[in-house]
Amino acid sequence: MKFLISIIILIFLPSCTQKYQPVKTSSMENTDAKNNPYYSRTDTTQLNVSNEEWKQILAPDLYAIAREAATERAFTGKYNEFDEVGDYYCAVCGNHLFRSTSKFSSSCGWPSFFEADKEGTYYKRDVSYGMERVEVLCKRCDSHLGHVFDDGPKPTGLRYCMNSISLEFVPDSQK
Ligand SMILES: [Zn+2]
Repeated sequence: MKFLISIIILIFLPSCTQKYQPVKTSSMENTDAKNNPYYSRTDTTQLNVSNEEWKQILAPDLYAIAREAATERAFTGKYNEFDEVGDYYCAVCGNHLFRSTSKFSSSCGWPSFFEADKEGTYYKRDVSYGMERVEVLCKRCDSHLGHVFDDGPKPTGLRYCMNSISLEFVPDSQK
């Protein structure tokens, strides 16, 4: 019986166990930094901004993911199949999160990294949707970014499964 249950779980368990509430990806622009007084790629001061205020500042799709922990639909994100050289910043506040050298191509449908900037991220246990997961958040603005799983490649064995909408990519050529 136990064996049968394992088989059933294996069959029905999706390759990326991230439960999603579909969010429409509307445009290539993550955030309009001009209307976001908190956005900075150099200031690392911790932010303490209410969701009411963020709602006025952020685009609706970014607000839903960053502040309500929604997840963009798999294979729809702009950084899912993307391998340019540069850095990834928090789309909400501009905090540095990932370097492109830690990105790897994963089949799960979301941009995946094997290593995060330790200064930029922190973790929280997440038991929503009846799953035991580790949520990844931005250290500066406390926004939801995605989840981290332990089925990633070497050297860390981790897979940071991120939402493209939560990320802002800046190529080295623009620095
Ligand atoms: Zn942030």
